[in-house]
Amino acid sequence: MSNEVQIDEYIDSQTTEKLTKLFQFANQEKSEELISRISEIANKKLLSHPHSKGYTLLHVCCLKKLHTVVKALLDLSIDANQSRKECGKTALHLACLSGDLISCHYLYQSGADLERCDKSGNTPLMYASQQGNVGIIYYLLQNNASVNSRNNQQSTALHIASYFGNHESVRLLINLGANIDVQNNLGMSPIHQAIEQKQLKSIETLCKEGANLNKKNNDHLTPAQYAFILQDETIFKYLSIYKKSREITRKGIYKIKTKTFYTILPPICLLISLFCFALLPIYYWAPINTGIFLFYKKKINQFPLNLAHSPAVASFSLSLYIIGFVCNLLTIFKTTIILRPLNSLLYLIFCLLFIYWNIKLMKMDPGFIAKSKFNIIDFLNEKIKLQEISEINNLEICTSCLIRKPLRSKHDNTFDRCIARFDHRCLFT
Ligand SMILES: [Zn+2]
Repeated sequence: MSNEVQIDEYIDSQTTEKLTKLFQFANQEKSEELISRISEIANKKLLSHPHSKGYTLLHVCCLKKLHTVVKALLDLSIDANQSRKECGKTALHLACLSGDLISCHYLYQSGADLERCDKSGNTPLMYASQQGNVGIIYYLLQNNASVNSRNNQQSTALHIASYFGNHESVRLLINLGANIDVQNNLGMSPIHQAIEQKQLKSIETLCKEGANLNKKNNDHLTPAQYAFILQDETIFKYLSIYKKSREITRKGIYKIKTKTFYTILPPICLLISLFCFALLPIYYWAPINTGIFLFYKKKINQFPLNLAHSPAVASFSLSLYIIGFVCNLLTIFKTTIILRPLNSLLYLIFCLLFIYWNIKLMKMDPGFIAKSKFNIIDFLNEKIKLQEISEINNLEICTSCLIRKPLRSKHDNTFDRCIARFDHRCLFT
C-alpha cells in the first residue's frame, strides 16, 4: 500500500498520458501494440501503477483475457499479487472472473497467491466457481488451493457454485474434496443456496453426491422445508421423493441406482428374440418371401461381428428381426410349397445369429476410459509451448472421473464412467 502512495506522488503528466494510451489499447484488446509499447517502456514501477478506476494494466489485461500481454507484463517481474485498493481484488481474481485459464497459469507461475482474499473474503477459487469455469477450478485445486476456505459470510466455493447453478462445478468441487454439508453464517448448506435460487440442476447434483437432506439452517428448515416455504413445488416434490427413495435404500429394499432404459434394452432384445425363437416351430413350415431374405442378406453384410458398441445397434437389429417375423407370418399363405423348407432353414439361421449378436453385445465393454489423473499443469505447459491455445480454450474435463474428456466421449450415469465410443449412452447425462 505504501508503495502505491509513493508512485502517486511522483507521477507526472507525461507518464499519465503514456498510461492512458496503454489502457486504451487494453480496452480495445490490441495485444500486439500493447506488447511492443510495454517492451519500449519496460518500467516496472510505471507499468504497475493503478490508473483506470484503481485497476492496473495487469488487472485490465486479465479481465480482457489478453494472456500474451499478461505474460509480457509478468516477464518484467510486475507484482502478481498487487490488489485494487477499493475491493482488494488481485489479477488472479479477475482472470478467474473472465475465465482466462492461461493468464491464471502465468500468474501462478509468477507467484500469485491462490489463497489471497478480496475485501469480501473471496478467494480466486470462489470467482471461478461463480463463473462455473471447471478448467480453472481444476487447475487451482491441482495447485493445492484450499477447497474449503470461507469468505466473510462463511460461505465456501461450493456454496457459490450451488448458488449460481453451476452444477458441473458443484460436482467437481465435491469430487475434489469440498465439504458438501458445510454451513455459512445463516446456517445455509450448499443445497439450501441452490434451493434459494431455484437451481434444479445443482440440487440434483448435490442430492446425487450425497448431501444431507436433514440439515437445518438457522431458521430450522431442512432443504425440503425450505423449498416448501419458498413455494417451489417442483423442488419440494423432487426433494421429498429423493429423500424417501434414499431412506428406502438404507433399508436395502430399493437401490437408487436403478438400471436405465439403455442398460435393460439389450436383455429385452434377447428376451424377445428367445420368445420369437420359441415360436419358430409353430410356423416352421411357413415360407419366406425370397425378396425379403435378399433384403436381409444385404443388411447382414453390414453387420460384421465387431458391432458398434451401442444399444442403438441392438434396437436396430431387433426391429429388423420383428419385421422379418411379421413378414414371415404374412407370407404363410402365399408362397409355393417347394420353397418352404429352404426359407425356414434360412430363417432359423437368422434367428440364431440374432441371439448370438445380442449376447455378444451385452458382454461387450462399451469403451470405458481409464480413470487416470489428468495433469492440467503439464497439459497447459505443453500446449502453450506448442502454441495450441485453441485446445486450451476447448478443454473439457469430466467432473466425475476427473479426466480430460476425449472428443465425442460422454459420461455415462449408469456406469458412472466416461465412455469413448458409446455415443448413444449420453442421452440421460
Ligand atoms: Zn466421466
